[in-house]
Amino acid sequence: MDDLFLKIVDGTIPSKKVFETDNVLAFHDIQPAAPVHVLIIPKKYIPSMNAVTEEDLPLIAEIHRVAIEVAKKLGIAESGYRLINNCGPDSGQAVGHLHYHLLGGAKLGALTS
Ligand code: C5P
Repeated sequence: MDDLFLKIVDGTIPSKKVFETDNVLAFHDIQPAAPVHVLIIPKKYIPSMNAVTEEDLPLIAEIHRVAIEVAKKLGIAESGYRLINNCGPDSGQAVGHLHYHLLGGAKLGALTS
């Protein structure tokens, strides 16, 4: 399987880590779309949100806990931030490994169609 983000998890592809737990990794996006743009991913392979199962729900909760920690660590918890998941072709999902974009550090534009 050619999973780009598993290569980031195992260090084959370098990344600028922000925070990690046993199950979740947060790292800076290489093409930031905001002053703060961090990707939060499960370390295990899940291709997209559509593949999340009942047994993954604690992992999804952990991803949210990590998002809060990252926002605090990077000083945007109070000013505000956005957590986005792209799922499938119409959303623009480019990497086939579940990931959440944490965006902040500036006033963000309105969500677009
Ligand atoms: O949601 P989507 O699949 O479009 O987002 C993938 C994200 O992964 C992009 O924002 C891209 O910049 C990021 N990326 C990265 N490091 C890589 C490859 C992609 O941060 N090596």
